[in-house]
Amino acid sequence: MRKQLLAGNWKMNGSVSTIEAYFSDFRECLGLPISDVLKKVDICFAVPFTLLAKAKEVFKGTDVQVAAQNCHFEEKGAYTGEVSLGMLAELGINSSLVAHSERRQYYNETDQSTSHKVKCMLDKGFIPILCVGETQAEREQGLTNKVLESQLSAVFACIDKLDSVVIAYEPVWAIGTGLAATPELADEAHRFIREFAKKRFGGEAAAKLKILYGGSMKPENTDSLLAKEHIDGGLVGGASLKPSDFASMVKSAYQRA
Ligand code: PEP
Repeated sequence: MRKQLLAGNWKMNGSVSTIEAYFSDFRECLGLPISDVLKKVDICFAVPFTLLAKAKEVFKGTDVQVAAQNCHFEEKGAYTGEVSLGMLAELGINSSLVAHSERRQYYNETDQSTSHKVKCMLDKGFIPILCVGETQAEREQGLTNKVLESQLSAVFACIDKLDSVVIAYEPVWAIGTGLAATPELADEAHRFIREFAKKRFGGEAAAKLKILYGGSMKPENTDSLLAKEHIDGGLVGGASLKPSDFASMVKSAYQRA
C-alpha cells in the first residue's frame, strides 16, 4: 500500500519570524504525537527559498520533510535569480516542486525545462514533485488526457526509471479557485496517469508511484478525495497556510491509513 503524502505548498507566503509558531500550532492541532502520525503519513512543506534553512531548523528531530518550490538544472553560472540543486543540498534539501502551473503560466516553464530538471534531480538523488494538469479550456474541449500525456511523455522520455518521482495532478481550474475536482473526476485522471506510467515503466513501478491531488483541497473534501483508489495524498496551497486546517487534513489521512 502506498503511504499517503500531504504536502503544503506555501507559494510566496510565510516568514522566518512566524514559522516556529506555525509548527507549534500545527502540532497542537494534530493532538497526537507527530512521530506517530509520521509513521502512517508523510508530511512535507514546500516553502520559499528564504525559509528553507529555518524550516529545516524548526522541523529538526522530526521526519517532516522540507522541499523547495523550484530549482535549476545547471550546477552554477549566469542564471540570475535561480537556485541550483547543489545549493539546495547544502541546506539539507532533497526535494522540490517542478513545473507548478503558476511557474508554467507566469515564468514560461516548458515541458523541455521540466524534463531536464526532473532528470537532473533523479541523477542527484532528489525527489521531484512533478506538477501536471489541464486548464479549464482544455478540459472543456475534452483534451485532459492528451494534455497529461504530453506533459508526462516529455519527462518520461528523459528518465529510465520512476525512482522517487511523485506526481501531483493539479487541474489548473481548481487551483486557488475554491472549485476542487470531484473525487471521481480526480481519480479518473489519477488512474489515467498511473496507466500511462505503467506503459512506460511497468506495473510494479506504476503501482508504487505516488500521485497527489492538488486544487482547492481543504478539510471538508480531504476525506472523500483520499478515499479514492489512485489518490495518494495532496498538494495543498491555501489550506496549508492555516495550521488547524492542514493538521485536520493530515489527521484525515492518518485516520484512513
Ligand atoms: C497549489 O498551489 O498547488 C494548490 C493546489 O493551491 P490551492 O490548494 O490553494 O488550490
